[in-house]
Amino acid sequence: MTWSATILTLYPEMFPGPLGHSLAGRALAEGIWSLDARNIRDFTTDKHRTVDDTPAGGGPGMVLRADILYGALRGVGGTGPVLALSPRGPSLTQSRIRDLASGPGVRLICGRFEGFDERLFTGPNAVEPISIGDYILSGGEPAALVLVDACIRLLPGVMGATQSGDSESFESGLLEYPHYTRPATWEGQSIPEVLRSGDHAKVAAWRQARSEEDTRLRRPDLWERYRGARGRSPSGARDDEGE
Ligand code: SAH
Repeated sequence: MTWSATILTLYPEMFPGPLGHSLAGRALAEGIWSLDARNIRDFTTDKHRTVDDTPAGGGPGMVLRADILYGALRGVGGTGPVLALSPRGPSLTQSRIRDLASGPGVRLICGRFEGFDERLFTGPNAVEPISIGDYILSGGEPAALVLVDACIRLLPGVMGATQSGDSESFESGLLEYPHYTRPATWEGQSIPEVLRSGDHAKVAAWRQARSEEDTRLRRPDLWERYRGARGRSPSGARDDEGE
């Protein structure tokens, strides 16, 4: 079955953009996923094709109208959860991506200007807001590309080596271990000896230890959650360790 991405945007020509290349592009050509990027203005009825209006209460910029967006959503079809890209939503996670990739597809609404009329997110037909991180983009399109890219690589038949998904950062609650390749020495830095030892058990132990150490140092938030989930201090790293 084809996984479908339906995107409501003021800039449909931004799609597939980067998703027309490499793994995602090949999968699109093969029909593993399909894309329907539609202009929100095509669903307006007035002669100016109006999608926005000034903010109630005053202030700069323009706000996308909930009634227009909802009409567009009903008009466009597609399948799967409806998400509106917004910095005011909960942050996207790898586990949410897994859920979305295992379903029939997604329907995404891209904001522009000051964002959406809040009533899009409340009431009987509430849409879910979702953020891709704590920074502000000029529009939802790059965020939609990020979300769809992350889903596509998980679709069956997209990634060559299927097992290469499992050890990626966040899949286990940790950052992935670091990688090295040739040359053996570059700018005075050598590949860690253990990776050239041919001892698979030692390599696996080193990778687990580096995963834990790098997560602890770089992402204390993930580390705390990982330790909490395991109910004890994981192997290879101690709480009292310094730098
Ligand atoms: N005034 C809003 C920001 C609007 S930015 C606020 O302060 O919350 C314009 C549009 O860009 C948004 O409607 C949204 O669709 C998109 N956007 C910006 N940052 C985003 C983020 N971190 N995640 C997802 N979408 C984002």
